[in-house]
Amino acid sequence: ALAYFNGSFIQSDEPAVPIDERGHQFGDGVYEVIRIYKGRPFMLDEHLDRLFKSAAAIRLEIGHDGESLKRIIGELTQKSGLSDLDLYVQVTRGIAPRNHLFPVCPASVSMTAKPFREIPAEARATGASVMLHPDERWLNCWIKSLNLLPNILAKQAASDRGCLEAVLVRDGVVTEGTSSNVYMVKDGAIRTAPLSNQILAGITRMAVQRIAHELRIPFIEQSFTPEELRQADEAFITSTTTEVMPVVRFEDGSLIRDGKPGPVGRALYERFRTMTGQD
Ligand code: PLP
Repeated sequence: ALAYFNGSFIQSDEPAVPIDERGHQFGDGVYEVIRIYKGRPFMLDEHLDRLFKSAAAIRLEIGHDGESLKRIIGELTQKSGLSDLDLYVQVTRGIAPRNHLFPVCPASVSMTAKPFREIPAEARATGASVMLHPDERWLNCWIKSLNLLPNILAKQAASDRGCLEAVLVRDGVVTEGTSSNVYMVKDGAIRTAPLSNQILAGITRMAVQRIAHELRIPFIEQSFTPEELRQADEAFITSTTTEVMPVVRFEDGSLIRDGKPGPVGRALYERFRTMTGQD
């Protein structure tokens, strides 16, 4: 895939990043995953806002403003020759001999442009299984940090059991997924964890909240327990790459309602496709 690293356009598998890069040494950085539909980035301003918030939270000066990042994103997209792509943006504290303390050096900016990994229509029609897993992450989950070890371990555990996602549980309530936000539907109302330091403020969550408002579906930001999720009428997860994905089953084989995707998730997904110019 085509990539960008500190001013150069390269191939993503070319050696380009020094061993001393702090993303490599410490995971000392933040990132975004942005989807581009037919050449048009979806909610780019919101993604860049979140990137700047994440960077500020770890006292990282990106060294580019939004316009400058947009120019690089535009150039990378154009050079990639792709029109439907997932664009990854990573900013780290730069290149310096390994030492925990902040170095005095410019931040590193890398990006990759890859074709969409589209979820097959059959998988969407079937719906996903999820595994309940303890949320073992730190308490700054609103920062989109490169440090994803707990997320990776939980997602692998889920995958080992044939599940698409691990639904994370902290203090008896569902926080979010390892790379998604989690929702249940009960009596026609959508419920999801409120924004806090315990979850990432998903951009797709923001889109779904707007759509729910438009469709006059109540959107309640209130945490729920795994038991409430089991008793839900329907459930779904959202993220930039899965969009709105129905959840129908748990790792133990138990089903949500009849084990089929529900109407609320479907309505949100249909509207999301229109918003993103897919239909
Ligand atoms: N929560 C976590 C922990 C994530 O990593 C992600 C995305 O990867 C999300 C939620 C969904 O965020 P978005 O909709 O902005 O992709």
